[in-house]
Amino acid sequence: MVRKIEAQGVKSALVLRALNTVERHRFIDSALAAQAYEDTSLPIGLGQTISKPGVVARMCELLLGAEIARQAPLGRVLEIGTGCGYQAAVLSLMAREVYSIERLRGLHEKARANLRPFRLANVHLLFGDGMAGYAKGAPYAGIIAAAGGEMIPDAWCEQLAIGGRLVAPMVTRAGQQALVVLDRMPQGLRRTVLEDVHFVPLKSGIA
Ligand code: SAH
Repeated sequence: MVRKIEAQGVKSALVLRALNTVERHRFIDSALAAQAYEDTSLPIGLGQTISKPGVVARMCELLLGAEIARQAPLGRVLEIGTGCGYQAAVLSLMAREVYSIERLRGLHEKARANLRPFRLANVHLLFGDGMAGYAKGAPYAGIIAAAGGEMIPDAWCEQLAIGGRLVAPMVTRAGQQALVVLDRMPQGLRRTVLEDVHFVPLKSGIA
């Protein structure tokens, strides 16, 4: 799986090492385990999916491209949409602290159970509506969303450190999502729209 992702153009040794380290089969139902190392999204319950590992790698590599991460390792990172916890585990190997928020209690609890054996002291799982970000951990060097909405919530931009970077899917045209990168520069926000992606929708409220 990791060799395939490398062939897709992911270059960061840190990202490739993290993907090699985190065993993806531990995050999915045993009935789907045979597909765990294919570059595909898979159901994790409650209508949600574990993201495609190639896209996880791409987004993590983009996050490491933040201005703030040029001289020093990535500091605090916020993930919106914990799901089963896979990406949070990958991020924990790339950032000092990871805050990951999920709006569905069932998945928040599943992620907690999935991550327990990994004993990742720098991962903080939160239950709540990630549309509001998580102000207590702000400012963040990086913010990464695993669900796509019509727009990027203001709270996310406000919680981004100067030199920090946000990577998120966003609806750009009729039902089509693209990956958006927002860099917070001293002069303001710089936005870059990248390739099309397919993420589950960003929803408000908790359930
Ligand atoms: N990060 C996961 C992907 C999970 S899918 C992985 O490692 O594969 C995206 C998740 O975003 C879903 O579990 C969904 O419930 C959650 N989500 C959607 N809107 C949200 C919101 N406003 N706040 C928090 N989580 C949200």
